Amino acid sequence: MKTLIKNGTIVTAGDTYKGDILINGEVIQTIGKDLDVEGAEVIDATGMYLMPGGVDAHTHLEMPFMGSTASDDFYTGQRGAAFGGTTTHIDFALMPQGGTLKQGIQNWHEKAKGKTVIDYGFHGALTSPSPEAIQEIPSLVEEGVTSLKIFLAYKGVFMVSDEEFYKALEKARDAGMLVMTHAENGDAIAEIMKKLLDEGKTEPRYHLDAHPAILEAEATGRAVSLAGQTGAPLYVVHVSCEDAAKQIEMGRNKGFKIMGETCTQYMHIFEDDMKVPGHEGAKWACSPAVRTPKDAEYLYRSLQNSTLQVVSTDHAVFWYEGGKDGRQGGKELGKGDFTKIPNGIPGIEDRLYINWDAMVNTGKITENRFVALMSTNPAKIFGLYPKKGTIAVGSDADIVFFDPKKEHTVSASTHHCNIDYNAYEGRKVKGMPVKTMLRGKLIVDNGKFLGEKGSGQFLRRKTNNPVL
Ligand SMILES: [Zn+2]
Repeated sequence: MKTLIKNGTIVTAGDTYKGDILINGEVIQTIGKDLDVEGAEVIDATGMYLMPGGVDAHTHLEMPFMGSTASDDFYTGQRGAAFGGTTTHIDFALMPQGGTLKQGIQNWHEKAKGKTVIDYGFHGALTSPSPEAIQEIPSLVEEGVTSLKIFLAYKGVFMVSDEEFYKALEKARDAGMLVMTHAENGDAIAEIMKKLLDEGKTEPRYHLDAHPAILEAEATGRAVSLAGQTGAPLYVVHVSCEDAAKQIEMGRNKGFKIMGETCTQYMHIFEDDMKVPGHEGAKWACSPAVRTPKDAEYLYRSLQNSTLQVVSTDHAVFWYEGGKDGRQGGKELGKGDFTKIPNGIPGIEDRLYINWDAMVNTGKITENRFVALMSTNPAKIFGLYPKKGTIAVGSDADIVFFDPKKEHTVSASTHHCNIDYNAYEGRKVKGMPVKTMLRGKLIVDNGKFLGEKGSGQFLRRKTNNPVL
């Protein structure tokens, strides 16, 4: 089965040019000018940018957390991703408390089974850091899992000690794996939370006070220093603010193997959005907390100058009004106590168009750098390149047809994820994905979903990947 995409403008991390793409089966066979192939199905892409499918390196589908479970499962979350032009994501497989890392991976395979519509991989997550679990780290490579998340936050739940973190860095380094860290000082945050609640400060806005930027910067600096000392590569997840980004800069300037991502919300949602009366602010309770427009400007610069290499989402969705109509508990669980709001925010569907509008339409980021941040860099860093993350001969035909002229108003009433609010409700954007192709097959075509449940493939990832 051959498909020929004609008359589009191909955009990769390196180039923008007019060209035709010939797909044979699941992969790109030829890229050329004025291609003519007998028997091939032709798709006209006049006026479209053809970009590699988005790679979202940070998602949490059907994750049990804070007394509930994320409402997007592998079907609804991946379907939303497909509508948004994302064809690959990497989800965090949390180990059961007291269990093993491999049990975490098995549990996540169970969740994905029969539901997937895009391709996916798993990160391990050292959420129960016994000595046995630290010993177990290198064996994840056999599972095709070559990155491991470690939390310096969430005291009493996921948080590890510096000793455990240091030992895990050494183990991962020797196995050619990449450690990822959630960098916030969990001990100090627990103290602040207690004090705020004692003072009767229970509304969602106090989530901001409990997660100050300085405690993210402190933990980022500590993680960068410990990784630098061991020589292990480190990827700091969801960098939210200038102070934390500066710690990454410091490490990179010293020659440490440090990388980092930010997430869509940190460039578009700010403290003032949470400082609203009532419970509304709970929609944006995520950790680290949202910051200021000034921080966002610093993040844009950091994405431009390669202090940060990736934009992901940390997609972890909990109903705004849960606990009824068959729904799991959601943000309402934190009414009267902000520390019980399930942390997380939607974004897997919105990432490409929200950021295109804010980055490329404004001239802050070129379309090529955009592709690097959304697709190519995460594919390289996490061992999926060049199968994923680019449009090149031999790569999977994961292609987004992106119409730079199409306008859209973001709304929960038209999105496709299983969640009753959209973090970007009411925003007007210009530039939308209109067709999404996964390994040569259209899975979204002008608002119509064509994906088949169970067709997404698990991606075994490489070790010893480049530090960008
Ligand atoms: Zn996360």
